[in-house]
Amino acid sequence: SQAEIGLIGLGTMGAALALNIAEKGFPIAVWNRTTEVTRRFHATAGDLADRVVPTETLEGLVKAIAKPRTIILMVPAGQAVDDQLDALTPYLDSDDLVIDAGNADFHDTNRRSAAGLPFRFLGMGVSGGEEGARHGPSIMAGGSADDWDRIGNVLTAISAKAEDGSPCAARMGDAGAGHFVKMVHNGIEYADMQMIAEVYGLMRDGMGKSAGDISTVFDSWNAGPLQSYLIEISAKVTAANDPHSDKPMVDMILDRAGQKGTGRWTAIEAQHLAAPIPVIEAAVMARNVSARLDERQAGQARFGASAQAIDLPAETLEQALIAGKILCYAQGFSMIDAAAKSFGWSLDLPGIARVWRAGCIIRSAMLNDMADALAEDPARNLVMAPYFADLIESALPALRQVVASAIAAGHPLPALASGLMWFDMMRTARGTANMIQAQRDFFGAHGFERLDGVDDKHGPWGASH
Ligand code: NDP
Repeated sequence: SQAEIGLIGLGTMGAALALNIAEKGFPIAVWNRTTEVTRRFHATAGDLADRVVPTETLEGLVKAIAKPRTIILMVPAGQAVDDQLDALTPYLDSDDLVIDAGNADFHDTNRRSAAGLPFRFLGMGVSGGEEGARHGPSIMAGGSADDWDRIGNVLTAISAKAEDGSPCAARMGDAGAGHFVKMVHNGIEYADMQMIAEVYGLMRDGMGKSAGDISTVFDSWNAGPLQSYLIEISAKVTAANDPHSDKPMVDMILDRAGQKGTGRWTAIEAQHLAAPIPVIEAAVMARNVSARLDERQAGQARFGASAQAIDLPAETLEQALIAGKILCYAQGFSMIDAAAKSFGWSLDLPGIARVWRAGCIIRSAMLNDMADALAEDPARNLVMAPYFADLIESALPALRQVVASAIAAGHPLPALASGLMWFDMMRTARGTANMIQAQRDFFGAHGFERLDGVDDKHGPWGASH
């Protein structure tokens, strides 16, 4: 009998996803560029091996799958995907479906969708790393509703399930919409991680807490409103000891963060969309600064470190983080809304919050409430939803206190501070852009709108206009 689905690319993610699919009862044919990898995969598939059909040529893979065929691609984003699509073309029929499940740039997915490929095509963001892929990822798909319907049963079966049992897999919208939502997910992931790192820094450098003490704080937060995978693993990593030195593991790790670029893509795309996402931008900036280790060392040698002692109750830090998190997600969802308008996608904001509730790196208790708040009125900024407006109001004094005292004591906290800046701007009905408009009119005769409706767009600056 033939396999129900095929998969190309048995790397970390592809192998885990293939086993997940087989485990849920779907016979799967697999192919990998390096044949030895395919053989090893099949040989180590254990009980699942009889649901896995290993194949050694692309043609063999295609023949092993029942028609109309569905093939998942799990290879590095970029040229490898285009090459694989080309290589498959001679073997596929027009109603066969190829799913790019790698971390594609959504512009590439848009391009591939529009290119008139000679078969059906879905772009699919998969979050949750290897563990997620094996036992239940969060799945964000983009493409036609018909194609989603065809394969949705497999994708929902392998996906993570939220507490209420609903699958964390959905079609986000057309073409690149799935990869776009995955990109914003990653941007939010950068920001969540950065805000946690910022309060970690206050506890370590301002309050002299040991990694173990900080772990206890994170642990207690994980039992409250901040309950989330990232807080949970932050408690775990600060609790771990380095087997080589027997010192706390985090104390032995170089403070230079890596990135594969999806946070940066989010920041760049936000600029194209004119969507304010300062918390995510600050998180990307912080990774870039972290990479400049030599510069930071020279800076400290010349100016001295700025961090002074500071004392803030753990509850205040927790409240600040709650506020920061809400502000960050409000910005992220607002960016998704801007993209929906700009690209003509009908993106279901509460549906996106629901898909993020389990399986992915940013999964958290708060996403349940965000899904509910967005369902009430998706067009409204999350901070204006009554539940979150109340939460922000009660947590804001703590955020302000943390940001103000950290700045005064020389502790950088760009993400939390940017969240607060944005919020204070968003609640200012009369801002300072009248000054910008006056300057623009002065030097460039750009004109301005008046408050009183008088029909004169220019100021009395002289002959320049
Ligand atoms: P790996 O490096 O572990 O595996 C890559 C796979 O792609 C291998 O099977 C490799 O085959 C194959 N491959 C590489 N280049 C080509 C090519 N030019 N043509 C055909 N096959 C090729 O990568 P991952 O599994 O980690 O990542 C796969 C995709 O999933 C990427 O887009 C990644 O960004 C994304 N992703 C990864 C996550 C993670 O946590 N790792 C999380 C979410 C998404 P061979 O054995 O021959 O080298």
